Amino acid sequence: MDLEQIKERIRSKKGFISDMDGVIYHGDRLLPGVKEFVRWLKKEKKHFLFLTNSSERTPRELQEKLHRMGVDVDRNVFYTSALATAQFLSSQKPHGTAFIIGEAGLINAMYNVGYTMNNIDPDYVVVGDTRNYSYEKLEQAVNLVLQGAKLIGTNPDVTGPIERGIAPSTKALIAPIELATGRQAYFVGKPNPLMMRIALKKLGVNPEDTIIIGDRMDTDIIAGIESEIDTLLVLSGISSEETIRDFPYLPKYVLKGVGEIIS
Ligand SMILES: [Mg+2]
Repeated sequence: MDLEQIKERIRSKKGFISDMDGVIYHGDRLLPGVKEFVRWLKKEKKHFLFLTNSSERTPRELQEKLHRMGVDVDRNVFYTSALATAQFLSSQKPHGTAFIIGEAGLINAMYNVGYTMNNIDPDYVVVGDTRNYSYEKLEQAVNLVLQGAKLIGTNPDVTGPIERGIAPSTKALIAPIELATGRQAYFVGKPNPLMMRIALKKLGVNPEDTIIIGDRMDTDIIAGIESEIDTLLVLSGISSEETIRDFPYLPKYVLKGVGEIIS
């Protein structure tokens, strides 16, 4: 298949699930071609979702971040691992209680599904991306888990990209709790197919008519493969042509960035 055929196949999809970091922006910098791509999605009346494993921000904060970069989209196009975690926990135990180590994105999502915060005997200890991390909170979390609270991580990322290097992400932040308690956390975000299934339902398009776009083989691409959705790896983020060889599976398509889809 030549490049034009690949682009045509991608353009004919009805549903687009796109990762954000490394696909739409890098830190505070919008990636080339994104404005045109989003304009095209809206003009063609495509169904689209921005799916991110980051659990720090609320949909409204993400909407404002994109607005500052000159891209305007509806608030409900954002789907974060915090929203998926809240939805998952509310299906497991409606109106439960949680002790949270995380930011507004996670705390709001939990309140919105009817959870209340509890640091005495919560059903769950939930950890997400945060800079608000302290020894006291770790100590509390460890003892609540030992008392029977279930340990949940919003996303299994060890690190995340920041403007200057990397920042420890949820899996690194939750590791001390796992070590001290001897319990393993359950992670909801990509590559857990649970996040993809919830996203597909929200998108309302058949998997065959949907494509997932991401910059990571170990989260975005595997999540697509395991949910039987066509995958597009873009090389505008963490992966290069060489990265692909390190994995036992392949993306269906590879392009330089989302701008190339419509160029
Ligand atoms: Mg990414």
